[in-house]
Amino acid sequence: MSNVRLRFAPSPTGYVHIGSLRTALYDYLFAKQKGGKYILRVEDTDRNRYVEGAIENMVQSLLWAGVEHDEGVFVENGKLVQKGEYGPYIQSERLDIYKKYIAELIEKGYAYYCFCDKERLDNVREEQKAKGLTPMYDKHCRTTNIEDAKKRIEAGEEYTIRLKVPENKDILFNDVIRGEVTINSSEVDDQVLIKSDGFPTYHFAVVVDDHLMKISHVVRGEEWLVSTPKQVILYEAFGWEIPKFVHLPTVLNKDKKKLSKRQGDVAVGDFKKKGYLPEALVNYLALVGWSPEGNKEIFSMDELIDEFSFERVSKTGGVFDNDKLNWVNGQFIRNADIDRITKLAIPHLVEVGYITENDVENRYDWIKMMVSTVQEKISYIAEITDHVDIFFKNEIDPENEEAKEMLKGEQVSTLLEAFKEELSLVDEVDEEFANSIFKVLKKKTGIKGKNLFMPARVMITGQLHGPDMGNIILVLGKQNILKRIEYVKRNLM
Ligand code: GLU
Repeated sequence: MSNVRLRFAPSPTGYVHIGSLRTALYDYLFAKQKGGKYILRVEDTDRNRYVEGAIENMVQSLLWAGVEHDEGVFVENGKLVQKGEYGPYIQSERLDIYKKYIAELIEKGYAYYCFCDKERLDNVREEQKAKGLTPMYDKHCRTTNIEDAKKRIEAGEEYTIRLKVPENKDILFNDVIRGEVTINSSEVDDQVLIKSDGFPTYHFAVVVDDHLMKISHVVRGEEWLVSTPKQVILYEAFGWEIPKFVHLPTVLNKDKKKLSKRQGDVAVGDFKKKGYLPEALVNYLALVGWSPEGNKEIFSMDELIDEFSFERVSKTGGVFDNDKLNWVNGQFIRNADIDRITKLAIPHLVEVGYITENDVENRYDWIKMMVSTVQEKISYIAEITDHVDIFFKNEIDPENEEAKEMLKGEQVSTLLEAFKEELSLVDEVDEEFANSIFKVLKKKTGIKGKNLFMPARVMITGQLHGPDMGNIILVLGKQNILKRIEYVKRNLM
């Protein structure tokens, strides 16, 4: 059995950032490729940041994207459940475990009790800043005798537990993407490991859990790189094997700044809402930072699993380009099953009032036909409302001067009357009518080519370009087309 085990370890802040989804995706791809396991662990030790329902929301976003974990935290019937032999997978349920390991560290002399209060720490920080130094704990309690410390704790004094960073030692570790990283311990803070509320800090819990959960590769954003030396010190203090570290480049916006909420959508849920297909979002995200061999751009999840490698992830930030995502998504929409696209489109069409719930029940095939006329044209589902507006207003409004001119040609009236006459011969337009009408009109009027198609299109849609005319005719039906012809005759010629 493979001993490749990767984990995605988000803090439950309420949503999954698109950059975090990429981290989870890379975890997943690598684990699957190596026949290993991908684990979802929840890092909720920062109680100030706790958001109700956040874990459920996160799990659902990840599963929607198809990034399915093998072990860890799941949602079943609206309830959180945990599966796997290394649980619990929610850190706030692991406090006893951290207690045991912090005791071991204190015993070994790698951690110490600290009684400095906030006021003192603030003063130290201010003084250091004033001197132009990087703020760091001044190691004030490092020499406190353990027995004294225990007495003070028994007497009810508040305390934290800090890491005793070894003095003047080079801390070395390997990053799969960045190679060897060295930092001198004099630059590493005596980090708090256990806070005064008894909860571990991220730095402590992450090491204990990654070790106990047998994580082989720690994959995370490069913003965590600065804390890795502290974690390496902890691994060494415990005498544990150090996992492989993989620090991913940040996902940037087009201005090369960190992708942030202020500039638009960053939550996976936002993309879902707009009608991005999960397989397209995942395909595009994989390429933000990773470059496959060759020029291929459209990948299925299985192909990503086959081809992904950390060696081909760049050291510098990957740019998240919405236009590129739209292109990829458009490709997937084009190839998707029309019923799937229709079902995704319906809520958007209902929201703008183009259709009602009643239509969904009674005229599903008609809705589907309409959606299919623009399936090739949309890059995400919400965009559909801009493309199908032509089906919902019989008062033709030519899109520009050129379109207006198109209706002023001398043959337009002949064309219009002939069209009307052909419509009067049928109860309703059908495929045969839609497919043959232009041939019939050409024969009947002698008008052909551009002079036939362009005015007819403007007459029926107000636009110079758009979906196939045969399909438009079918979707509109006889009565709507007649209304449009009448309207044009009365107002636009
Ligand atoms: N809980 C951290 C986060 O919110 C995880 C960092 C790591 O993967 O070590 O991203």
